[in-house]
Amino acid sequence: MPAEIHLFPCLKDNYGVLLHDPSTGTTAAIDAPEAAPIEAALADMGWRLTDILVTHHHADHTGGIADLKQKYQCRVIAPRKEASKIPNTDVTLREGDVVQVGSLVGRVLETPGHTAGHISYWFKQDKLAFVGDTLFSVGCGRIIEGNPEMMWQSLLKIRNLPADTQIYCGHEYTAANVHFALSIEPKNPALRARAEEVVRLRELDRPTIPTTIQQEKSYNPFLRADLSSVAANVGLEDATPVQVFATVRARKDKF
Ligand SMILES: [Zn+2]
Repeated sequence: MPAEIHLFPCLKDNYGVLLHDPSTGTTAAIDAPEAAPIEAALADMGWRLTDILVTHHHADHTGGIADLKQKYQCRVIAPRKEASKIPNTDVTLREGDVVQVGSLVGRVLETPGHTAGHISYWFKQDKLAFVGDTLFSVGCGRIIEGNPEMMWQSLLKIRNLPADTQIYCGHEYTAANVHFALSIEPKNPALRARAEEVVRLRELDRPTIPTTIQQEKSYNPFLRADLSSVAANVGLEDATPVQVFATVRARKDKF
């Protein structure tokens, strides 16, 4: 049976996600920004929490773990390189490791840059990827613990997933990301269409995610740093993709 997903807001602009395996009743939270909205979401769906899959150590992704662990005795799965910073960790994972949520099978992709040990979870069969704060719709995470080369390689790893993979990220940042992206590629028709769609969705208070790899390739400037048109738009015709990516990221930091 295919995976079921429930997406809901947490904190100011985080997303909580529940991943449910209907054949076994297993339910994982992807990150735990805060306990109360996750408990409410579980009650809404009639699901019981069995696992928390953590992408990285930041407090707005881990703040609910302790309370949820106490209430549900759930298994806490975290990136090996950040386990010491994440409370109540039971299992640590690294690149290529397999994680099972009931009968659903995921694989770990190490995607450092936002944090040094950030991981993403890819469920190939269900065409799902949970990318935390590495990739956002029309954007990418701030490079806090890594460097542009590291982040670019992480984004390429995600970009190489099948085009129809549904992408769930950690924040609703899309409207601001679109605004910035238009400063890089003002004439990109896919981006302009996305801009209109995002306005419509946000007016209805609806999420702009999930997105897909195919969609992000068409309008996310951070995934398009190896296009000559994007290099030209930032005045770096002869630069490497990493240099173009670093420049676009630096402009976003100041935008
Ligand atoms: Zn973060």
